[in-house]
Amino acid sequence: MYVGLIGLGIMGKPMAKNLLKAGYSLYVNDLNNEAVEEIVAAGAKAASKKEIGEKCDLVLTMLPNSPQVKDVMLGDDGVATHMKPGSTFIDMSSINPVASQEIAAVLSEKGIDMLDAPVSGGEPKAIDGTLSFMVGGKQEVFDRFKPVLETMGSSVVRCGEIGAGNTTKLANQIIVALNLAACSEAFTLTKMANVDPRLVFDAIRGGLAGSTVMDAKMPMILERNFKPGFKIDLHIKDLDNAIDCAHEIGAPVPLTVQVQEMMQNLHFDGRGQDDHSGISNYYAKISGTTIG
Ligand code: NAD
Repeated sequence: MYVGLIGLGIMGKPMAKNLLKAGYSLYVNDLNNEAVEEIVAAGAKAASKKEIGEKCDLVLTMLPNSPQVKDVMLGDDGVATHMKPGSTFIDMSSINPVASQEIAAVLSEKGIDMLDAPVSGGEPKAIDGTLSFMVGGKQEVFDRFKPVLETMGSSVVRCGEIGAGNTTKLANQIIVALNLAACSEAFTLTKMANVDPRLVFDAIRGGLAGSTVMDAKMPMILERNFKPGFKIDLHIKDLDNAIDCAHEIGAPVPLTVQVQEMMQNLHFDGRGQDDHSGISNYYAKISGTTIG
């Protein structure tokens, strides 16, 4: 099977390397030539979007958001124009579930199947091949391509029809953002009360308040290391998608809106490219106290 992957950023690059390790013939494309060269050195072939559409039985994307996925697939001379009926498209980017459904509807008219399969786990798990995939789409398409996703992830769960993967991802992103804000708020309080945040972290991480988010991000907050990881600007994008989706269906998201405002504030302070653990800098700004 020939596989194409478009989008070789923080996540796409290690995912490409795991596909190569698993023995797939991989064609890659990105606007960033350095990223393409790195993956070609690891064994892939560089290809235009047209070549990927023409040659590949399976096209994968790992792009920032809905507009990029729509443009790459459905834009003028987009990849879909060149794909064969019977081929498959799996979008692994985190995008608006409504956009996934719109793209799938257009592809379906061309006889192309689609899954939306966003991931959680970040760069370290992309490198280890232990990402968690949340998948939407037809059961038989899922069954056929699950082994491909398992070369990049240790958990691959079908959550429903097309769009269900990205709806699940929105839930994931709400929980991560609110958890980061809760950690920032709580640890700022302990620091201002003269109780060492490092000792508080050690004391509570194994209890009910502990979480994967706390374990992964508190060391970064304590070291004041905000190298991404997952950028604040990308998390703003996810919360925008969550709020849009919630407003369309009437779901209440008051806490999400509040944390999104904190992230917007950091974006306008020029911190959009920081890791999302940088939410703690919002609390530093309003309290005059840094946790780390
Ligand atoms: P990134 O910004 O590092 O990478 C995106 C890549 O897409 C870049 O290399 C860019 O050059 C490329 N690109 C953009 N437009 C293109 C186009 N028209 N043609 C070809 N290439 C194009 O982003 P990332 O962190 O790798 O995230 C990718 C997706 O995965 C996002 O939807 C993000 O929300 C999601 N995600 C990221 C993480 C994380 O920790 N970084 C974790 C889970 C999910």
